[in-house]
Amino acid sequence: MKIAVYPGSFDPVSNGHLDIIERAAKIFDKVYVLVSINPNKQYTFTDQERVEMMKLATKKYENVVVEASKCLVLNFARKKNAQVIIRGLRNINDYQSEITLFQFNRSIDNNIDTFVLFPSANNLFLSSSSIKELVLFGADIANYVPEGLAEMIAKKIKTRCK
Ligand code: ADP
Repeated sequence: MKIAVYPGSFDPVSNGHLDIIERAAKIFDKVYVLVSINPNKQYTFTDQERVEMMKLATKKYENVVVEASKCLVLNFARKKNAQVIIRGLRNINDYQSEITLFQFNRSIDNNIDTFVLFPSANNLFLSSSSIKELVLFGADIANYVPEGLAEMIAKKIKTRCK
């Protein structure tokens, strides 16, 4: 069984994340979406909200399971017998951080590999932070986030411009 883990903050989940998940779910038998809990990071959404949003966004994919973890992604992957970690790569900035992460992971456990997927063209420019900024400035984000999430996100981030 081919199993992959797709880790991230998903603060909040975007169509870019969902695109990666959908494509990974076609390749792997099972995909664990791992919502990372990092006490050193300041999230806009609570851990529960990030998990809830991701569960809503992925409910139609039978082989996608959403979990949260405070621990090392590699340890989670080992526990689930996953062979692969999936990451998305938008641009040169992502490249720099992703290759560092990859090398670290590889030095700890070279049985677990990292597969990188490039975003579909319409998601290339999407990031969680740009979505939050759009909401703040009163823009409609319905085209950028999975169905049903725009209202939830807009409720949490109060717009400055009505
Ligand atoms: P981080 O781990 O930096 O907090 P995120 O949680 O936002 O990043 O994203 C998790 C993964 O999804 C990362 O590999 C990131 O590069 C990727 N990603 C984020 N936005 C997109 C997008 N629009 N298209 C494809 N991949 C993306």
